[in-house]
Parts: sequence; C-alpha cells; structure tokens
Amino acid sequence: MTKSILIALGGNALLQAGEKGTDKEQLSHVRETAACCLKIIQDGYRLILTHGNGPQVGAILLKNEIAKNTLPPMPLDICGAESQGLIGYMIQREFYNVLEISKISKPVACILTQVLVNSHDPAFANPTKPIGPFYKEEESKDLEKKQGWTMVYQHGKGFRRVVPSPIPITIVEKEVIKDLIENDVIVIACGGGGIPVIRESNGTLTGVEAVIDKDRTAAVLGNNLGVDILMILTDVDKIAINFGKKDQKFLDKITVAEAKKYIAEGHFGKGSMEPKVQAACHFVENGGKKAIITSLNKSKMALDGLTGTIITL
Ligand code: ADP
Ligand code: MG
Repeated sequence: MTKSILIALGGNALLQAGEKGTDKEQLSHVRETAACCLKIIQDGYRLILTHGNGPQVGAILLKNEIAKNTLPPMPLDICGAESQGLIGYMIQREFYNVLEISKISKPVACILTQVLVNSHDPAFANPTKPIGPFYKEEESKDLEKKQGWTMVYQHGKGFRRVVPSPIPITIVEKEVIKDLIENDVIVIACGGGGIPVIRESNGTLTGVEAVIDKDRTAAVLGNNLGVDILMILTDVDKIAINFGKKDQKFLDKITVAEAKKYIAEGHFGKGSMEPKVQAACHFVENGGKKAIITSLNKSKMALDGLTGTIITL
C-alpha cells in the first residue's frame, strides 16, 4: 500500500474549552483541522480519520433527557451512531471543501462503524466512564432502580451515569474501510471509539451501552488496516514526564518499553494522556511503524520529525 496515516482527532478538533457547541463553532474547528490535514494529503499520504464525540453525545443524551416525556429516549449505542453521523458529516463536508478549493480530486466518506467487544470483558462488571447529564440525588436513585443504571457522585456537580469501557477487539467494517483506502478515498471511521457491539452465539451483533476509548479503537483500526503511522492529535505538542511540575520534561522520541515504564510510574493523566500512550504502544506492538502524539497545528511538522513525541518499538 502507498504510505498511509491514521489521524486520531482529539476533542479540540471539534470544540474548545468554554464554547457552547454551536454548529458554527464546531464547523470552524473542523475547517482548521481540514487545512492542517491538507498538507499531509499533499505529502502523498493516504488518510484515515477517527474522532471523539464526548460533548456531542453528551448533548444528545441531554436532549433525550429533556424530551423524555414526549419522545422515547434512545439507548447509548444509538446515540453514539447519531453522533458519528453528525460529526462525520461536518468532517466530510469541510474536507471536501478544502480539497475542492485546492483542486485535489479525492473522495471523502464517513463510515458508520461498529466495534466488537467481548461480552465477558471485566469492564462490564465495573462501569467507570461518566456520560450524559448530571442528576439530583432523588432522580439518580430512581434511574438506578428503573433503568438499572450505575450512578456516581461527582463532587459539587451531582450524580452522573457511568458505563463500562471495554477493550476494542476488532472493527466490524474494517474490510469496507480497507477497500475505500486502497481506492484512495479519505475515510472517517470509528467516531467516538466506535459503536460497541457484542457477538451473539448465532453470529449476530447486538449494540451495548458502553463507551470504548477512542484512541485505543484508533490503534486497533490502524493495525486492522496495516497503516504505517498512528498520529494522535490533542492539545499539547509533546507528552511530558513530571507533567505540570517544575522538573517537567517533554519527550521527543521514546520506545514502548520506556513508555510503559513511565505509565507504571504514573506520569500521564489517567483519563487523558495515559490512554493515548497506551494506544500508541498497542499500535506499534501490533505491527505499526510509529505512533506520534502531538497537537493539530504541529501535525505536519511532527510528521517531518521536527516536533511531537514519537513512540517506536
Ligand atoms: P483529547 O484531545 O482526546 O480530548 P484529553 O484532553 O483527554 O485529550 O487529553 C489531553 C490532555 O492530557 C492534555 O491537554 C494535558 O493537559 C493532559 N496530560 C496529562 N498528562 C500529561 C502528560 N504527562 N503530558 C502531556 N499532557 C498530559
Ligand atoms: Mg480533551
């Protein structure tokens, strides 16, 4: 295959701190993302994009909650699919426009993606991922009883639903995605970590109410496709050890062994940077050439080896 890269877009490629989440705000970030990725496309890379969906699926769940006496609320897997559609459309259209203006003829397509998880994954017995709106104590107790949800108290904010975060095993639509990539299509897939599904004994799939870590799914998709590079874009140019402390040190190039040592020493934020470093390790341990963690604005420079943190075997 021609050189290929999977870019896992972080939250700030769609929304930034303090914003409300209007269509205009999100589209302006997507446009900027497309402009940054254009340079990589012009470099001759085949491109696969994945993205988060935290604020968007949160908004869908809140809308469900507000409208629940008028319209039936949808389960989390269906809300996840809805978010893949709305975000996928914004990315698909703005990438199309950037390519059109640059006179590059390349189709862009979003694939609604299901990701297989194991129904016996230990995560199902221990839900940890908070999602959706905050509730008062009374409502929270009612939801636990009537819906069977697990609720946790988040200090000063109220009660929130937590769902399992199982490990992604494989991407259900990987062959379709591969065909598209080989035909030089820019593919958007696995939004929000993908829609988690389990396989029944007769081979059919059932959606489950869970959230898969988006960076881990990106690593699995990258391996499924045999992509060379996994680039995880977030809001820092490089990862650091002793992050936020006075002896903070940014890392340029590390091995998987070093990364694992730093993980064990607790250098990376639990729900933020640690899963990204784990995803990077998983990718290179399973056939990927290198993983890069950097920011959107530095993506092209990092690909040229001038910044970012590079993780190799
Ligand atoms: P996403 O871009 O996917 O939304 P997150 O916001 O969850 O990503 O994670 C990125 C954040 O992780 C950074 O903004 C940074 O504040 C934080 N972080 C935690 N530990 C580290 C570290 N050791 N080095 C760099 N950033 C870190
Ligand atoms: Mg974030």
